[in-house]
Order: sequence, then structure tokens, then C-alpha cells
Amino acid sequence: MTSLPRFRDFRSIVFFTGAGLSAESGIPTYRGRGGVWHAYDFREYACQRAFERDPDKVWTFHERRREVAAAAAPNEGHRIIAAVQAAMPATAIVTQNIDGLHQCAGGARVIELHGSLWRVRCDREGKRREDWTVPLASRRCPCGAAYRPDIVWFGDPLGVETFGEASRAITACDLFVSVGTSGLVTPAADLPLLAARGGAVCVEIDPEETPVSGWYRHHLRGPALEMLPLLRG
Ligand code: NAD
Repeated sequence: MTSLPRFRDFRSIVFFTGAGLSAESGIPTYRGRGGVWHAYDFREYACQRAFERDPDKVWTFHERRREVAAAAAPNEGHRIIAAVQAAMPATAIVTQNIDGLHQCAGGARVIELHGSLWRVRCDREGKRREDWTVPLASRRCPCGAAYRPDIVWFGDPLGVETFGEASRAITACDLFVSVGTSGLVTPAADLPLLAARGGAVCVEIDPEETPVSGWYRHHLRGPALEMLPLLRG
């Protein structure tokens, strides 16, 4: 069995995180048992067409998710990742999560591929602002148009700059550690291939096998909180 990589043996690390990391903070994943998409049809709650059809229904769904995220605290996995980054500032965090827990744990340079529950965007002007109030201070922009959550919904394109920044960090890294992502939805799911082709040592932390497991050299089949410490060496 090949020995596990240790963080200290690398110069540039990327952590690629998904809902499985936040599951340990009590935030439901999307597709696993009790997943969000089992309880809600994303076509009714997480796409622009649903928002234009019934903005209040979409906001009520997202206000509930803000409540859940606001009640959650970063877990040891978030803290380990933030500590590695503090010791090795070239480390980047590329996350699909929208809960802000990496930042709450002290993570810097967090590249949020899917946006954030804690930002809103004017549906007319496109202007963004942070809003951590629960419930939201106002669902309307001063211009009179509705605010929408600044989240990448199904059918939305990923931000070109955000995806470009993530791709550059991943191409340059020599250790790529994915934590708790199902690898089911592109283009996020293509990022492990980019890391493997860039020559990085790739580690997948997930209790389950995923459609992209083949791109990884190491597979740690267990919960993030038990598996991440194994890489501290
Ligand atoms: P997901 O629910 O699809 O996958 C979660 C993964 O975490 C699974 O592979 C599961 O086996 C694993 N897991 C469960 N418990 C774990 C634990 N304790 N430790 C480690 N791993 C654990 O979530 P995802 O992969 O983040 O998202 C997939 C898609 O969902 C995104 O590409 C996007 O389409 C949509 N989405 C996600 C978010 C988000 O907040 N992650 C936001 C918007 C859209």
C-alpha cells in the first residue's frame, strides 16, 4: 500500500470541498440520505425560472438554508484546512459550499464556485452585497428590483473569473485534496481531472466512491473528520 502524502511534503495545496465537509457541522448534503434535493425539487427552488415565477417561494427556501447555516459552526475539518493554509499561504480552498464555514474557521483565499448564501445580487443591476442577517434585512434592492441569492443555480453559468482562478490554482498545485463532493455536476466535477493532468498528487476523502474516483491516486473512504488528520503525518 503506497504511503499517504503529508501536507508538509508539498509546496502548493488545493482543498476542493463539497457538502460532505459541512455535513459534519449539521448542514445536510444534496444527494445523500436526508439530502436537500430529496426534499425539494431544485426546479422549484434553485433556478432563475423558479425565481421569476415565484420569488417569495424561492426566498423562503433560501431563508431556511440561511437559518441552518447560521446555526452551524465550523468543524475540525474546516479548522485543519485553515491551519494548513496559515502554515502554507500558497494553499487555496476551492469550495462548492455556500455556507461560509471556511471563512468562519479563518480560511482565506476561499474560491466559492457556487457563490454564497451570505451574498445577495440585484436581479436588475447585478450589484452584489453581503447580508448576514437572518431573516434577510430586505429582499429588495434600493432600485426597487428584487434581490436574488448570489448563488450559482442550476442553469446558471459559473463565474468565468471564479472558475478561472480555481483552475489556475489547481493547475499549479502539487497536492489536490477533495473533501466530501459527489463529483456529479460539471464543470466543478471536471476539476479533479485538471489536477491529475497538472501532475498533482490527488487524494479523495469521501465515504463513498464517486464517478471521478478514478482520477485520484489515494482514496480515504471515511468521514472528513477522521480522514483529514491522516494527512498531517
Ligand atoms: P453532494 O450532496 O452532491 O455530495 C456530498 C458528498 O459528500 C457525497 O459524495 C457524500 O458521500 C459525501 N459525504 C457525506 N458525508 C460526508 C462526511 N462526513 N465526510 C466526507 N464526505 C461526506 O454535494 P456536493 O458534491 O457539494 O454538490 C454537488 C452539486 O450540488 C454541486 O455541483 C451543485 O450542482 C449542487 N450544489 C451544491 C452546493 C453546495 O453548497 N455544496 C451549492 C449549490 C449547488
